[in-house]
Amino acid sequence: MSRIGVFVCHCGLNIAKTVRVSELAEFAATLPDVVVARDYKFMCSTPGQEMIQRDIKEYKLDRVIVTACSPLMHEKTFRKVIENAGLNQYLLTIVNIREQLSWVTHDIEEGTAKAKALLNGAVYRARLLAPLTSRVIDVNPDVLVVGGGIAGIQAALELANTGTKVYLVEKNSTIGGHMAQFDKTFPTLDCSACILTLKWMPFCSTRTFKCLPTLKLQKSKAMWATLISPLNRRRVMSIITSVMPVWPVRRNVPAKASPNGMKVW
Ligand code: SF4
Repeated sequence: MSRIGVFVCHCGLNIAKTVRVSELAEFAATLPDVVVARDYKFMCSTPGQEMIQRDIKEYKLDRVIVTACSPLMHEKTFRKVIENAGLNQYLLTIVNIREQLSWVTHDIEEGTAKAKALLNGAVYRARLLAPLTSRVIDVNPDVLVVGGGIAGIQAALELANTGTKVYLVEKNSTIGGHMAQFDKTFPTLDCSACILTLKWMPFCSTRTFKCLPTLKLQKSKAMWATLISPLNRRRVMSIITSVMPVWPVRRNVPAKASPNGMKVW
């Protein structure tokens, strides 16, 4: 059996305008394993924090539910509060009735009803919580970029420049992809081979880059995607997106003579 404390915040009128906070606290007191339920104007203020710590000690609470704003705003604050009172920080539950409720409704009846439903679920969830411990583990920060076309090259280059070790895998014997086969690229009509040379040059001088040509992947792309950490994957995707507007102009576009006699494409 748990001993749960519920603390409902008014946030001034931010929440209190569309949720009957006192009624919510009274409702919380009727839920299973809840031994104390209070509402307070500003729960993140020093008196609010002290009230939570006092109740943890006085009522021997082993779970705390703060019904207030987004966890993005004050989850760390309240974790620290309960930790300083001797509770494991992961025995905190935040119920967001500000961003997800009071800021998106004008109806106090509906707002109060939804807050009760959210709080009811949070109490049942809190009863199942177990203390957790944080630990630091080593991860391999190396990145695998699949495909040695212009997008893959640029992604690998950007990552290598940050000091990250990058493996660039290409199924063909050379990198450069389709772009290496075109003459010029839109909109500047620069020579595509010249652009690629600029990309290749840094690879020759960096020790954090390793190209693996003629390596054909046997498994699905999805499997390889999971090998790249989500952080790096996002980064790679944003870099790939940033080089996407390089549109190729094919070599067989007929050349025209310009007024000064030079051929232009
Ligand atoms: S805990 Fe969140 S909802 Fe409550 S007063 Fe502070 S900012 Fe406002």
